[in-house]
Amino acid sequence: MSSKSQPAEVETAALASGGRTLRIIDLRALAGSAFERLPCTLRILLENVARCGGPDAPQAIRAIRSWAATGRSDADIPFHPARVLMHDTTCGPALVDIAAMRSALAEAGGDPGRLNPVLPIDISTDHSIAVDAFARPDALDYNMRREMQRNAERYRLMKWATRALAGVRVHPPGTGIMHTLNLERLATVVSVWEGDGDTWAVPDTLLGTDSHTPMINGIGVLGWGVGGLEAESVCFGMPAVIRLPEVVGVRLKGRLRPGVTATDLALTLCERLRRIELADRFLEIIGPGVSSLTAGERAVVANMAPEFGASCALFPIDGQTLRYLADTGRSAEHVRLVEDYARRQGLWLDPAAVPRCTEMLDFDLGEVTVSLAGPRRPQDRLAAGATVQALAPLLAGRRRAGDVAQGRDQPAPPEDGAVAIAAITSCTNTSDPRLLVTAGLLARKAHRLGLAAPGWVKTSLAPGSPAAARYLQRSGLMADLEALGFGIVGFGCTTCIGNSGSLTSQIEAALDRGRVPVAVLSGNRNFPGRVHPRLEAAFLASPPLVIAFALAGDINRDILTDPIGHARDGAPVRLADLWPSGPEIDAALALAREPGDYAGSYDRAERSADWQALAAPESALFPWNAASTYLRRPPFATFGATTRLGSYRARPLLVLGDDITTDHISPAGAIPPQSAAADYLISRGEDPGDLNVFAARRGNWEVMLRGLFTNRSVRNLLGSGILPGSTIHAGSGHQLPLWRAAERYAAEETPVVIVAGERYGMGSSRDWAAKGVALLGVRAVLALGFERIHRSNLIGMGVVPLRLPSEWPPARLALTPGDSIRIDASAERIEPRGRIPVCIDRQAGRIGFDATLAVETSSEVELLIAGGILPLILARAMSADPPPAPPGAVLRSGAQR
Ligand code: SF4
Repeated sequence: MSSKSQPAEVETAALASGGRTLRIIDLRALAGSAFERLPCTLRILLENVARCGGPDAPQAIRAIRSWAATGRSDADIPFHPARVLMHDTTCGPALVDIAAMRSALAEAGGDPGRLNPVLPIDISTDHSIAVDAFARPDALDYNMRREMQRNAERYRLMKWATRALAGVRVHPPGTGIMHTLNLERLATVVSVWEGDGDTWAVPDTLLGTDSHTPMINGIGVLGWGVGGLEAESVCFGMPAVIRLPEVVGVRLKGRLRPGVTATDLALTLCERLRRIELADRFLEIIGPGVSSLTAGERAVVANMAPEFGASCALFPIDGQTLRYLADTGRSAEHVRLVEDYARRQGLWLDPAAVPRCTEMLDFDLGEVTVSLAGPRRPQDRLAAGATVQALAPLLAGRRRAGDVAQGRDQPAPPEDGAVAIAAITSCTNTSDPRLLVTAGLLARKAHRLGLAAPGWVKTSLAPGSPAAARYLQRSGLMADLEALGFGIVGFGCTTCIGNSGSLTSQIEAALDRGRVPVAVLSGNRNFPGRVHPRLEAAFLASPPLVIAFALAGDINRDILTDPIGHARDGAPVRLADLWPSGPEIDAALALAREPGDYAGSYDRAERSADWQALAAPESALFPWNAASTYLRRPPFATFGATTRLGSYRARPLLVLGDDITTDHISPAGAIPPQSAAADYLISRGEDPGDLNVFAARRGNWEVMLRGLFTNRSVRNLLGSGILPGSTIHAGSGHQLPLWRAAERYAAEETPVVIVAGERYGMGSSRDWAAKGVALLGVRAVLALGFERIHRSNLIGMGVVPLRLPSEWPPARLALTPGDSIRIDASAERIEPRGRIPVCIDRQAGRIGFDATLAVETSSEVELLIAGGILPLILARAMSADPPPAPPGAVLRSGAQR
């Protein structure tokens, strides 16, 4: 029997669970002989296209069946997630866009109320809290108070959205980091949906406007990160159209050795997987080793899927998943449903199964050792004791006569390698209770021996979940952490996103002397300047290792063997003296475990009095305030956008090397007081001492425009000595800030393009990296390679991504400011992976080649022709009935208002 939503060939079946009978898509019948060979990822995608139907569903079903034969496909399929997850900095631009589109609709005589999301949207409030205070009893209250003061205007917009827009739910400050919140509270793994006259069981699926959304893959939920623009289109009822993914199997065997953590595993996998081409590919973790990992440990691994280079990293469901759901307070009835559904639909772990994968990698868990990664990239794993060697290349050429490596026995001014920041931070490594409890036990031993961190180290603990505070209290470990300076500073991203606050005065002085202090943090990214604008080096480490390095005060030692400090009796203390044993950790976890903590602590945080007291508009249209320095109506969310396609001659605005991240393109951290963005804000009355971070200013396009490419690691290869964020204007030969040069080129009606190397746009999913480039007037980006989300965001803004032939890297192009680039990207040439003729007239001579259009689907072609997502949404809101919610998505009532 088929339901009325699905194609005729789709059979449904009854699933009995806990005394209920639910309807499900009969995946085995639908996939036929292909079923046994399909990895879980493809089974979930098959269920999604079968359930959600639509004109492309029959073809997509056939493509998925065929995929099982080869592990590859060129087919595009529609994907309808059941929900969307955003955070306070990615939701800001999306909500500003929606508010602006509503204003544009009203001005054009349309009904702004027609512009409404059809999917539930959960918004976390985690990315804005900074570590202003630390290592003092009131640090948490102080930081939260400052957060509300700084961000009240943006938060009012979010609160307006819960009132004006259907299905928007905001989780206020204090409710933790989005991915932890998702793991512990939002994810159902299997949802119950009332529709088509029946009660259905369907897989929980989502898209998130954050690259670490795949953390939820650790408990068997398929979801991945998308740009804010793609999320906006999904929220308004369009499917995410994806190329049927290649799936790389990672077959685990063995088990982690004692003393080795999930962080070590994730960093080791990162090192290994970065050697494989994983762009646009999905990982699936299989094999007998999977069952030795707890769901918390799996989530640590899945979190780092973007650092591996992959879209996501799905784990199957098994007893560990069920235990996690029960431990985090999900009902027994629901846990039973998850098991029954997963077993019936082939989503349950079979350790011996070897599904068809595009590629398979074998990995022995027993080979993982205690690790760090750094000092500049997450894939640069090193043995935990090898920090001295890892930092040496950064120091080469910087040492001055008289530099002496400092011993750690006596307090001394910090030198190269001093630990400036020791932060237990990030959803990555604070969501797994085992990691936090291990850190707490290490702190206890160190505290009892009388160890303390030197005064120059900025210490902090910012768990992803308010429940963490409860279980650390319950196990008695919080007091030990606080005694070492690791009291809770916030329930949010803090140091991980660069909101690390100011450094200690000793470290600032060391930086002024040209020294190279470092951060040690339990995060997932360590690009120069990410953690703090003045820190070039950062090491990623497990929470217990973060504490060990804090106590050591520097990384100029082998942390595994050298003394970390001295006990009260003068005896040297080494890491081995502090590291808790497996049974000690198990005992503390047993003491900490209380499933009721989760609902209790989240409910309490959701009732935030500060949030309730926040005044917000209740009108359908957002009342723009011309004096606001946070929220300004953007020029691109309006009618009248024009396509950037065409045949034209452009000037190179920027020529960049490899590995340009979205952090490089559009910063998230503190707004430097000496910057064009600061000048703009100060001229509008802002306090020079408190300009907030770029991430918090994403609702103001004027600020974001001025911050583009100003990261001091960015080199514009168009000429020598060009300052970050600047270029040489071709007509005048003047060096100008990019936004000024863009104004001139626009006035001259001269198109501009960006040229870049490999992996352009890697890192965070921030759509401002694409919006900013669009505001600069860029018509095309020519790069050797693009990271997935940024490529999609560029298309969402109508900017054409073109792949350079591998024999023409930017350095070999040798572009200079007077050169011109002819591009024939007229609409009739635009097709997935189409060839685009490029001819460059250079000082060094004319060259020509075909670039490849980095467009994968016909929907992306439609977007480029329309000029981007926002013009398309507006046109549909004006002319057609809004699309319905896809089957399986339920708009909730009871939003946090
Ligand atoms: S990775 Fe860092 S910045 Fe991203 S959500 Fe997690 S804690 Fe926040």
